[in-house]
Amino acid sequence: MRKILTLLCLQLASAAAEAPQKFAFVDYRIIPLRVHRLQSEAEPALHTTLSEADIQRVLGKVNLVWAQAGLHLTLESIVTEAAAHPELAAKNKGGELGWLLQCRPEASRQPDCLHVYYIKQFGVNGVFLGQQSMVVKDTARLRAVEGGLDEPLPRVTSHEIGHALGLPHRQSVTNLMASGTTGWSFNAQEIQTTRATAAKWAWTKTAPVLLKEADALFAANKPEAAALYRKLSLLPLDCPEVRLAKSRTATPR
Ligand SMILES: [Zn+2]
Repeated sequence: MRKILTLLCLQLASAAAEAPQKFAFVDYRIIPLRVHRLQSEAEPALHTTLSEADIQRVLGKVNLVWAQAGLHLTLESIVTEAAAHPELAAKNKGGELGWLLQCRPEASRQPDCLHVYYIKQFGVNGVFLGQQSMVVKDTARLRAVEGGLDEPLPRVTSHEIGHALGLPHRQSVTNLMASGTTGWSFNAQEIQTTRATAAKWAWTKTAPVLLKEADALFAANKPEAAALYRKLSLLPLDCPEVRLAKSRTATPR
């Protein structure tokens, strides 16, 4: 009997650990993300063919994943640019991936956001390289699992963001940090870790802080308010703050 009870308790505990948490507007943290569409005439492997519309679609799904942790990636910008040092691709087939750091164009590196660089082909689906930078190939393939995401790119992008936010791998098939599957769930510990990491980044803001900035600009009749409200309007929440943001996304004339 005691054995059965212990088993039951263990099951309940693990159910609680996997249970979805709900985050309200006040809990949300906004993480700016710059997306780089790397291009290369000389090296097809470093040339993504993703369109800006593809990137918007991918980011929408990335934000469904990260809503589970009350985190929201906001598009700082999309940069279409030539890959630096394209000759490195041919010299580094397989193995170490650190060379990819050198393919990031110098001018568009920026300390106050995360960076995802899309390319066409390399040995893995994606990699987090440190320096707030990750590389994802637009030809990524994954093993579908029950309840998994319907498209590889947002899953791979979200997985690499998970590494950037301090998560190691966890091989339980249906979760975000399993290798090579379409799983996208978190456990409570992972949610806590990622939120704590994001909170340490001075360049992230909570949703209420961003709203305060938008309101101040709006009150001063500054056109910059619209861009901030637009960011807040994309939070996957139905609440007064997001409704207000939606109503103020048009730039005043
Ligand atoms: Zn990984």
